[in-house]
Amino acid sequence: MLDFNHDSERDAQDPRALPIGQRINDLIDAALIAERATQPRREYLGASMLGDPCSRRIQYEYVGAPKDPDKDFNGQTLRIFAAGHQFEALSIKWLRGAGFNLRTEKADGGQFGFSVAKGRIKGHIDGVLVDGPSWFFYPALWEHKALKDKSWQDLAKRGLAISKPLYAAQVALYQGYMPDLAQNPALFTALNKDTQELYHELVPFDASLAQSTSDKAVNILQSTDAGQQLPRMAANPDFYLCLCCPYAKRCWHGA
Ligand code: SF4
Repeated sequence: MLDFNHDSERDAQDPRALPIGQRINDLIDAALIAERATQPRREYLGASMLGDPCSRRIQYEYVGAPKDPDKDFNGQTLRIFAAGHQFEALSIKWLRGAGFNLRTEKADGGQFGFSVAKGRIKGHIDGVLVDGPSWFFYPALWEHKALKDKSWQDLAKRGLAISKPLYAAQVALYQGYMPDLAQNPALFTALNKDTQELYHELVPFDASLAQSTSDKAVNILQSTDAGQQLPRMAANPDFYLCLCCPYAKRCWHGA
């Protein structure tokens, strides 16, 4: 029997009361979040996180401390990550089309990378350029990021070390622990997600940055083993990096 009367309580629970776009996106995001929940937690210090200026934040990440409420990856963030992989695949295709022999996985399908400290510090690289135009150097570490226009413009203007110190530390650590890839500069490629412009920078091995990043990793492991929480990087929670930290409540209010 048809019922044209609105029941606000029933409508609030009925997904059909929501706009069609929201209903579909809710389903997509729920599937992405459920898929992520099946993936095992990373139980090592990854090279991609060690450039973070706050060791306490890295320590939270390493021990698997729950992020603050509503600060865990949501569906949109997971879609951004997934899109990043697609952008990377495009850059790989374009570089190969340009004549570079870019290897992104071993013969057995595994990732290239390093593992030290009994597997407690690891890194997985995006690829290695092993051959190509004669004016380039081989082998060369290849690292890729897909960036929003504003971030990409800043990188293109100021260079990796100044604009993206987190990525610079990641590259230095890879080269430090993979000495074959430290002989030649790494190639850092950034794809502008808004305009599809490509930026390439040669990154010579920065031994001092690799050493300080490695020392930071060892300090985090030793402090964690000793049950010590690392100091905050800021004197108050209004510091700009704390405002966007997913552990801010835990860090400042012991939540
Ligand atoms: S809130 Fe600030 S000091 Fe605390 S972990 Fe995050 S970045 Fe570090």
